[in-house]
Formats: sequence, C-alpha cells, structure tokens
Amino acid sequence: GDVMAKQIIFSGTQPLPAIGQGTWYMGEKSAQYVEEVNALRAGIDLGLTLIDTAEMYANGGAEKVVGEAISGRRDEVYLVSKVYPWNAAGPSAIQACEQSLKRLKTDYLDLYLLHWRGDIALEDTVSVMQQLVQQGKIRRWGVSNLDYADMQELWRVTGGRECATNQVLYHLASRGIEHDLLPWCQQQKMPVMAYCPLAQAGRLRSGLMNHPVLNDLAQQKGMTVAQLLLAWVIHHEDVVAIPKAGSVAHVKENALALEITLKQEEITLMEKAFPAPGRKTPLDMV
Ligand code: NDP
Repeated sequence: GDVMAKQIIFSGTQPLPAIGQGTWYMGEKSAQYVEEVNALRAGIDLGLTLIDTAEMYANGGAEKVVGEAISGRRDEVYLVSKVYPWNAAGPSAIQACEQSLKRLKTDYLDLYLLHWRGDIALEDTVSVMQQLVQQGKIRRWGVSNLDYADMQELWRVTGGRECATNQVLYHLASRGIEHDLLPWCQQQKMPVMAYCPLAQAGRLRSGLMNHPVLNDLAQQKGMTVAQLLLAWVIHHEDVVAIPKAGSVAHVKENALALEITLKQEEITLMEKAFPAPGRKTPLDMV
C-alpha cells in the first residue's frame, strides 16, 4: 500500500524492515529441514531479510539451515549470529566465529552478539569483537540479554559504545524494558532486537494468543492475534521483531504485519489489557 513499512537502522547500514526471522529450534529435526529452509527463503522474498541465529541453536544445526536458505543470495540478507558467553574472548571467540561462518557457508556476519553475560569481562569481549571486525569476519557486534546496569557498564568500557544492538525479550505481556532499557537504547539511537515477540506462540504467557481483547481487536481489523502482537512490537521506534516461523504460511502472515498501522486508541486498548510493570523489574529472559 501507500504506507511505508516500518524500518530500523543499525548505525552505518541501510534501513532494514522492522520484522526479521528467528531460528531457535530450527535444525533440530531432519524431517523439518526442507520446510524450515523454504520458510526462511519465503521470508527473504517478502523482505524479512534480517536473519537471527546462534551457535547454540540445535548445536549449530540452525546455522546450517540458514546457510542452505541463503545460499546464492548472501548479499540480500542481514545475518546475525551469537557466541556463547564462555566463548566470548580470545582464541575461543575467533574459533567460534569461524565455525559459525563455516556452517553458514559465508565469510562474514553482519552482526555478532554476545548471547548473554557470563564470567568473561566485558572489555575482553569488546576487544575480541574489535579483532573480528578488523579481520573482516564480522561487520559489527552487539549484545543480548544485558539489562540497563550492564549496558551502563559496557558504556564505560573502551570501545563499548560501538555496540550495535541489545537483543532482549519483548512482547505485549512482558514490558519491563519500557521502564529504563528501551528509552535509553532509543536515546543512543541503538536498535533493540525484540526476541520472543509472539511469546513463543503464547507458551510464555498462556492466554496471550487467546485473550478476548486481542481476539476482538484482531477480528475487527481482519487480522490474526500474532499479527497484532508483531504490529505492537514494531510500532516502537528503533525496535525490530524477530519471530521464528517454521512454515511458509506463518512467514507470510508475519510479513504482512509490516504493513499494519495501529491507531493510538488500539494501542491503548492493548496496553490496558497488558500493563507495563510501572517500576524497575529484572530483565525477562528465556
Ligand atoms: P517467538 O515469539 O518468535 O515464537 C515462535 C513460535 O511462534 C513458534 O512456535 C512458531 O511456530 C509460532 N509462530 C510463528 N508465526 C506464527 C503465526 N503467524 N501464528 C501463530 N504462531 C506463529 O519465539 P522464539 O523463542 O522463537 O523467539 C524468536 C527468535 O528470537 C528466536 O527464534 C531466536 O532467533 C531469538 N531468541 C533469542 C534469544 C536470546 O537469548 N538472544 C532467546 C529466545 C529467542 P512455527 O515454528 O510452527 O511457525
């Protein structure tokens, strides 16, 4: 339609559509391999070009699915992978990155994230990330599951402000980041990657996909609750949602959410049904 799809910008890159594709649980079952590859390819065709994966997912299996899906079209995608915290420094990090690249059948990542904070000092992670950038193995780096205080600490580390994103759990029924982390990231003009934007199809908050307020609104607008949830996540400035979809049908449905504009009164209705905590709460994680 006439309405520009929502976009986000990682500093120094072209604008990207505000919905990408997650891959957790892909590559677990060989019977689903072809369908997963097809789902990711359909997503790329529909503009969901940011693909999020990790060395953790299916022990490297998800990266292999992604490698197959992007083969011959590497330059169309914005590829994000993550390193285990215990690999996130020194030679282990270089090796972990090289192994991810091999499984993905590419020679660079657009973005490489510390998956969550472990025992390694942030400065050692920053230092190896800088080394990987210099080696051309990654274009940029970022973090995941870092709460507000961790980000303040990162900002005091030399080179820490080169961090391109923080990937955190965010969906309508888990709004804790609105208290401090999200506004702070927006102030830095640093996109937030919202994981579990569908609350894992409702599993994380039972009742979410079947809530009467959401059901009624979705029906009124001629869409699904999943689309409503994605549209809500991406109406926030500098937020990209990365739903995981294992079928072409789900991918198509999710891509259409890029075109949805929610009216302020609709947003208010949704947020009244799922209020933010209104005080500092520890960062939600899975
Ligand atoms: P999501 O909230 O994306 O939910 C995924 C589930 O939703 C799947 O069961 C999927 O089913 C279903 N689904 C997808 N589209 C639809 C639809 N249109 N209608 C109904 N159901 C739908 O949860 P994830 O945990 O997968 O999070 C998304 C991504 O974020 C992950 O895949 C991963 O890449 C990343 N992540 C990062 C974490 C981190 O620590 N950094 C932690 C967790 C996730 P089906 O597969 O059948 O389509």
